[in-house]
Amino acid sequence: MERCEILVTGCTMSIVAPHVRKHLSADALFRLVRSGFASLPDHRLDEPEISLTDALMSAFAMFSLKAPSLLAFDKERTAGNLHTIYRIERIPCDTHMREVLDPVSPKVLRPVFKSVFRQLQRGKALEAMTFLEGHYLLALDGTEYFSSKTIHCASCLHRAHRNGSITYAHQMLGAALIHPDQRAVIPLMPEPIVNSDGTDKNDCERNAAKRFVAKLRQDHPHLKFIITEDSLSSNAPHIETLHAHGLHYILGVKEGDHSYLFQQVQAAEHAGRVTSYERHDRAAGVVHRFRFVNDLPLNAAHPDLRINFIEYWELAATKVQHFSWVTDLRVSTRNVYHLMRGGRARWKIENETFNTLKNQGYNFEHNYGHGTQNLSVVFAMLMMLAFLVDQTQQLCCALFQAVWAKLGSKRLLWERLRSLFYTYHLDSMCELFEALWYGFERVRPILTIDTS
Ligand SMILES: [Zn+2]
Repeated sequence: MERCEILVTGCTMSIVAPHVRKHLSADALFRLVRSGFASLPDHRLDEPEISLTDALMSAFAMFSLKAPSLLAFDKERTAGNLHTIYRIERIPCDTHMREVLDPVSPKVLRPVFKSVFRQLQRGKALEAMTFLEGHYLLALDGTEYFSSKTIHCASCLHRAHRNGSITYAHQMLGAALIHPDQRAVIPLMPEPIVNSDGTDKNDCERNAAKRFVAKLRQDHPHLKFIITEDSLSSNAPHIETLHAHGLHYILGVKEGDHSYLFQQVQAAEHAGRVTSYERHDRAAGVVHRFRFVNDLPLNAAHPDLRINFIEYWELAATKVQHFSWVTDLRVSTRNVYHLMRGGRARWKIENETFNTLKNQGYNFEHNYGHGTQNLSVVFAMLMMLAFLVDQTQQLCCALFQAVWAKLGSKRLLWERLRSLFYTYHLDSMCELFEALWYGFERVRPILTIDTS
């Protein structure tokens, strides 16, 4: 097919292209990801026909383009702009991609996540994510993205049932920088919850959190974080782990699971130690009601572990919402509203991260290929890496934001993106987004076979 020029139509010439930050553009980040892949050791001994870099970049492109399946990606691998935009030299077929990626250890991908994060830091993009006195709010949460009674691999978790059958599953501990005022989230490399080969004992979220926190500190020894999690995490061993790594926290608590703590709050109330505070938002018709108390024991078994407690009600005309948290940050009437917003922003790891991956075109729960060793985990990590690049666009790229606003939904955005990607010759993602923004002249296809 001849090169089809994308022509700006006369009527939209006056529109000024929204600003693209060059080092944080999709094209710059694709190059960064590719060079990260290129520095990984290839586990194969002989001279391979297709490089590990190309195999990894192809899988990354599959998630970046939101291909509905590996088969669908494979069918179109000769069309489109995989060479020009993703810089892939040779694209493996579906079977070959699975074979090459199955033995790859997922942990080798960590430096690639880190290099994208560094680029965000250098571009000052993370300033918008600063939550409190130079601290980032980092939400952690576990999720399951695969389960099957038949398909399994060496790293699957096992759930044995009474009737003798087994369910195999994959989970991960997801992590993302969040901010109450930002819809975009910045995911870090998740910690896979997997069994190591030959062990019967299932890995669990708590162990994964321990590993995650240690690696977080290795990767970012000087960054200041406030960790936010749900009430399953409000236990003494986990809080001690956070302390040991110099991490602050705002963690959910529930009366049902923390009855001793709630009794202590009641006792403090009777002793006059509890502060009540209200803030009225007349424009929204909402009252924010708080009560808080500093320096309480988390539970009877750990009287030395002292925490600060916040309880909060959001009172609207038709609905009352209730939350409570523990934190190591000293609570006052000056900061309680802000801390509450940080605690409530935790839902972004569920909604803006996992639900987006499941329902907004990424097909998080679709099985792109399971393998016998690591494939399922490698694919999940590459999907998260593609999501990181997309979220960077959402946070930093005015052109991406403008196209998203124009089309109205992510689903339609990915659909249009794929359609252009596979129909026209393009040099860059930027060119593709400009075409989506300005509009372009659709040309009649030039047939490659003479039908006369
Ligand atoms: Zn598995």
